Amino acid sequence: MTNVPQIFGSMVFNDKVMQERLPKTTYKGLKKTVENGEQLDISVANVVANAMKDWAVELGCTHYTHWFQPMTGVTAEKHDSFIQPGGDGVIMEFSGKELIKGEPDASSFPSGGIRATFEARGYTTWDPTSPAFVRDSTLYIPTAFCSYTGEVLDKKTPLLRSMEKLSQEAVKVLKLLGKDVKRVTTTVGPEQEYFLIDKEMYDKRPDLIYTGRTLFGAMAPKGQELEDHYFGSIKTRVAAYMRDLDEELWKLGVLAKTKHNEVAPSQHELAPIFSTSNIATDHNELTMELMKKVAERHGLVCLLHEKPFKGVNGSGKHNNWSISTDTGENLLDPGKAPEDNIQFQLFLAAIIKAVDEYQDLLRITVASAGNDHRLGANEAPPAIISMYLGDDLGALVESIINGTEYRSHAKLKMETGVDALPTFRKDNSDRNRTSPFAFTGNKFEFRALGSSLNIACPNYMLNTMVAEELSGFYEKLNGETDIYTAVKALVKETLTAHQRIIFNGDNYTDEWVEEAARRGLCNYKSLPDAMEHYIDKKNIDLFVKHGIVSEQEIHARYEIELEHYSKQLNIEALSMLEMAKRDITPAVITFINELAQTVSFKKQASPFMSCYAEESLLKSLSEELEAFVKKTDELEAAVKNAADYSGENLEHAKYFRNTVFALMEELRAVGDEMETEMPSKYWPYPSYGEILFGV
Ligand code: ADP
Ligand code: MG
Repeated sequence: MTNVPQIFGSMVFNDKVMQERLPKTTYKGLKKTVENGEQLDISVANVVANAMKDWAVELGCTHYTHWFQPMTGVTAEKHDSFIQPGGDGVIMEFSGKELIKGEPDASSFPSGGIRATFEARGYTTWDPTSPAFVRDSTLYIPTAFCSYTGEVLDKKTPLLRSMEKLSQEAVKVLKLLGKDVKRVTTTVGPEQEYFLIDKEMYDKRPDLIYTGRTLFGAMAPKGQELEDHYFGSIKTRVAAYMRDLDEELWKLGVLAKTKHNEVAPSQHELAPIFSTSNIATDHNELTMELMKKVAERHGLVCLLHEKPFKGVNGSGKHNNWSISTDTGENLLDPGKAPEDNIQFQLFLAAIIKAVDEYQDLLRITVASAGNDHRLGANEAPPAIISMYLGDDLGALVESIINGTEYRSHAKLKMETGVDALPTFRKDNSDRNRTSPFAFTGNKFEFRALGSSLNIACPNYMLNTMVAEELSGFYEKLNGETDIYTAVKALVKETLTAHQRIIFNGDNYTDEWVEEAARRGLCNYKSLPDAMEHYIDKKNIDLFVKHGIVSEQEIHARYEIELEHYSKQLNIEALSMLEMAKRDITPAVITFINELAQTVSFKKQASPFMSCYAEESLLKSLSEELEAFVKKTDELEAAVKNAADYSGENLEHAKYFRNTVFALMEELRAVGDEMETEMPSKYWPYPSYGEILFGV
């Protein structure tokens, strides 16, 4: 039996360890930095570094690494040992300078042209707000990453800045309302979906190996239609994996809480208890890495791609987000009487206005080659951003807009009809699973994220846009003598102006797509369509005004995203070509040859024997193979065309989306059709049935 409280955080240089190991003054100095965002003193850093090193060495560490989140989409690390020449041999040392600043050779990280090649240096800087931890005999130090000239090259820095900004703006507004609050923090709980498949199957699929998703594969006779996997009992092998994963996460201080089977076969979910956005981001990155690592130990592979299998649901991530004060108040908690709670109404109005005005940014931040397969495909919220408030809050907003009386739906008692079962109160907001941005009681749940996304990005967008609205509100309210009346009027005006973003119905219907168009909401169907608007003036103004990222950095990010998208599609197309030419076509030819020989032998043996079965299959497969080979050639030509292109990244990405991707879909369709007609022993890859039901 695992003693959870004992192992929890045992690999983390957390508050408890710091209190034990740091002199009081150092501890206090560090605390000030963490809690109030104050500058860190080098003398403090020296003492902390030494204590950290001693602690890590006791846990078996020989190395340390600055751990950072460059624009590649995965975390990066460069390991250095603690050794220093000393005495006859070496001593283990770690200085404050080494803790604070690292200098990885940054020339190969994407910078979107910010960093000239002759100035390849990049710096990592310690982020003391996220605790260091030990993994694989190495001390991991969470850091931010910037260039020699100070440009931001990572995802964490803008997040930290946005949290700071939102805090400043929220505190100003709260002061107007008579609250004595020093700081607010945003909190996040990301629900993480993933697939778990057998390693042996994975190893036989070049598409999974190169791209994380299957590029060919006919649907199995069974998918998710019986809905028997969702919340179904967890298989022994998967349960063992989950237990192992939980333990690893707990040791690292990750509050892994919920685990269950998801909708698609072989699909699962893990959700932690929420923490501050910054720590939640680091922990989510760790969770994704450990999901993959732990799988190896169990002969499994964890797929975090947004759409590994066609025909069954893909994987997403729900970003539960809220704001709370240093006095412990959740600002998104409506309380017992939301109709009188002007503070709640004001923050709600700010969020509604933010989501309406920056709906494009929310769409952009979840855009990726993988997520393009999900958004708008009846399994994830659509590409159209709207908000769901639920019955209660919806009624409140309506009553404010119309100036009518609000009648609370007073929490209904839920009757189960079975005496032995306890009665419980229904949640204030029933669930609308189809909404991209739903109010769920005391937080908002942003549901359009893809499973592999680094949550720093959606969260810094969210924080910044809400900070912007709060700063506007402050300008309007500051100096008002009757603050209550002024807030009421501002809330009414804001809700009235932005009610188009609220939609409580089914987001999956065609009617909503039409209705959304009438309301003037954006509907960007793919990454290139969405990304184009990243550099719209209003978006650049937002980030520049609040000092989150500079105009140059936004342009860099824009180029990086587009380039990354094109590269991913290029890899997918090349993988498909390789599979088509080297495996599928030869396999079909071999079987066709066998069929033809059978026909010929049978006819030799007796001219009257029926060859109906062989001949019809021969005809069908021969025709399909011809179409398949022609499509392969077309795709190859398109890929070559793309390689010869030397213009704007946006046009390049659009070419990949509109031409290359379209041809890939056509090629796949023929390939999948042939798979259904081929004997399984001739088909070069494990089938969907074997992969999805194999664990
Ligand atoms: P559900 O989405 O099914 O309602 P929960 O209420 O358990 O499930 O919450 C889902 C996620 O939301 C969990 O990760 C939880 O920790 C997180 N969460 C709950 N409250 C907050 C909050 N105030 N801020 C951010 N995340 C929260
Ligand atoms: Mg949820």
